[in-house]
Amino acid sequence: MTTWDQAGFETRAIHAGQEPDPQTGAVVPPVYQVSTYAQDGVGGLRGGYEYSRSGNPTRTALEECLASLEGGTRGLAFASGLAAEDTLLRTVMAPGTHAIIGNDAYGGTYRIFARVAEPWGVEHTPVDLTDLDAVRAAMRPGSTRVIWAETPTNPLLTVVDIAALAQIAHEAGALLVVDNTFASPYLQQPLALGADVVVHSTTKYLGGHSDVIGGGLVVADAELGDRLAYHQNAMGSVPGPWDSWLVLRGIKTLGVRMDRHCSNAKAIVDLLVDHPRVTEVFYPGLPGHRGHEVAARQMRDYGGMVSFRVAGGEQEAVDLCARTRVFTLGESLGGVESLIEHPGRMTHASAAGSPLEVPADLVRLSVGIESIDDLVGDLKQALG
Ligand SMILES: *Cc1c(COP(=O)(O)O)cnc(C)c1O
Repeated sequence: MTTWDQAGFETRAIHAGQEPDPQTGAVVPPVYQVSTYAQDGVGGLRGGYEYSRSGNPTRTALEECLASLEGGTRGLAFASGLAAEDTLLRTVMAPGTHAIIGNDAYGGTYRIFARVAEPWGVEHTPVDLTDLDAVRAAMRPGSTRVIWAETPTNPLLTVVDIAALAQIAHEAGALLVVDNTFASPYLQQPLALGADVVVHSTTKYLGGHSDVIGGGLVVADAELGDRLAYHQNAMGSVPGPWDSWLVLRGIKTLGVRMDRHCSNAKAIVDLLVDHPRVTEVFYPGLPGHRGHEVAARQMRDYGGMVSFRVAGGEQEAVDLCARTRVFTLGESLGGVESLIEHPGRMTHASAAGSPLEVPADLVRLSVGIESIDDLVGDLKQALG
């Protein structure tokens, strides 16, 4: 088997974990739609596989590719991003331990900590992770096991300093977990910056076509990788071969898609910053953005997510979402098609009244890879 360690990112996206099938020469790993494997005598496994919860060749291809793209030693695929988070949480946390999470964490992540981990005996403190003194102050010596960061965040595109958080975590014997869903490994490599675990919702940019739900974990440390793999099998929230194959297929074009997501987002931002109906634009590529300098240091480019506030308050934000024609009104993000949504009433409705509440006049865009003239024209007509 070729190792692709020395190859460039786009080459690894297409080849890592994906040698041509030894029997047929098929250049793409087949969908091994199978639950069990014939043995040559008891325990005589032909290819190392015995049962597809424990391992499936299509999933292995995806896991090796994920590990390669994030520069880790071990990649693990899951049935969803939240399934990956749950398995991670139950591997690195235990009753009586404590976690620090961003005060604008993804709603589903917040819900796992508040409604699943808390009753299990795991405490968490939501902190503004851009305030490193506040992070240090929230660390509980002996019981804080993880700092759990996202960057850029959803939906305000806050950027946190991965290297600085890794240092704070490690000084206290804790792990830094980074949810890299918004950036994708093409734009940002948390392990190289000192993070211990990378979390993905592969549903988003990695899958890239809004046709599959999936998740992933990548770690640098082999022993932690073994413990996670043990729990992946023990808890069983694995993706099927068909879903693994769809994510793998999406990943092959990640680099070219992200380049277009980024350039289209920049053109949209140019329109929004000058528009009289827009009061504030959130995009890490803007020199005035709070996290711009850190983003410039730790990201290759600034991504395809853009949020903005409108002059007319909540009603105008809601109406605007219903007026676009190319931008589809819907939740989720990271697909080839452009999406628009109102976080306050949609993705972040459950955060109302919590520290994660978002402005009511906020609109979020997942800028797709359609012709930019159509996207700009559509937003112009919708803004009026
Ligand atoms: C969507 C998302 C998740 C959850 O992933 P699912 O695949 O929906 O379970 C986690 N983190 C971020 C940043 C997300 O956008």
